Amino acid sequence: AVAALALAGCSSDRGGEGGGETGAAGFAADSTIGIALPDKTSENWVLAGGLFEDGLADAGFKGDVQYAPASNTVAEQQNQISAMVTNGAKVIVIGAKDGKQLGTQLQQAADAGVTIIAYDRLIENTENVDYYVAFDNFKVGELQGQALLDGLAARSGHEAPWNVELFSGSPDDANSAVFFDGAMKVLQPKIDDGTLVVVSGQTDIAQTATQGWEAENAQSRMDSLLAANYGDKNVDGVLSPNDNLARAIITSTKQAGKDITKVTVTGQDSEVESVKSIMAGEQYSTINKDTNLLVEQTIKMIQQLQKGEEVDVNDTEQYDNGVKVVPSYLLAPVIVTKENAAEAYANNPNLLDIVNAAG
Ligand code: BGC
Repeated sequence: AVAALALAGCSSDRGGEGGGETGAAGFAADSTIGIALPDKTSENWVLAGGLFEDGLADAGFKGDVQYAPASNTVAEQQNQISAMVTNGAKVIVIGAKDGKQLGTQLQQAADAGVTIIAYDRLIENTENVDYYVAFDNFKVGELQGQALLDGLAARSGHEAPWNVELFSGSPDDANSAVFFDGAMKVLQPKIDDGTLVVVSGQTDIAQTATQGWEAENAQSRMDSLLAANYGDKNVDGVLSPNDNLARAIITSTKQAGKDITKVTVTGQDSEVESVKSIMAGEQYSTINKDTNLLVEQTIKMIQQLQKGEEVDVNDTEQYDNGVKVVPSYLLAPVIVTKENAAEAYANNPNLLDIVNAAG
């Protein structure tokens, strides 16, 4: 529940001076706004780039939207952010490739008075991040854990215990641990009481990680898990942190000759191919983190900064980046299965078409 809570003690902290600058003068209405996004491994990043281009232009800003290319991403993103500072951006919105490696660039930004908004992924170990805007990612993990349990009961065709495997995201993305911890809050008690059996024994985030969020890494880990542990056993479910990895896990499971309609695989992002897979009875669940809403909220924050107004936040406790708790605006994620897909995508004509076409 993201209630509008008291904003006491939470100010528009620009430039790392430690707060107290609420109401400070804004900046010119046609200023440059930098948007630094990571690679394009998930559809949401691709969508966000286009929405920022259009939304910033509509709001009268000059948008400078950059992606870090797949190779040498961290260094490229560092260079892009430095260039945005040099080119006079007033606000830089960052979807970090590696949120632990931007300290130098963000110090440069703070020295130049640039406001930094971490977008979707928290930026860690620096005081020079002013705001965080994201879907509540711990909640995403909890929803994924609960979906796994629900799907097991509904699809496996038998009572507990259920055989499951666990996957997490890329270790350089701060979200990966947040998703995993949220899911394990739900799943760990069920592992402890024997409802769930992780047949491989791999329950640690380091063992379950998927470097770079790359589908091929998830697929090859799933191939190995199945070959080593499931010769004569059924795998009943897999915790997958996102859709791209879910589809790789499904491919691997099908190739191993398992009946995928009995296996529960979770996901996240509401990617087109995964919504089709859900409607076809393969992937069990995804999460709707509507990119339109996230970009809209971010642009609203930028407009508040431009006018020198207080920036809306609704959480000042959850997201500690190791140096400070970053004032956050969190949106509510929605779990989606075949059952509620039509309702969940009511405002998304593209996805609604897929749902309706599947009948
Ligand atoms: C995002 C997910 C996305 C993943 C891979 C995460 O930080 O929150 O939505 O699936 O990165 O791109």
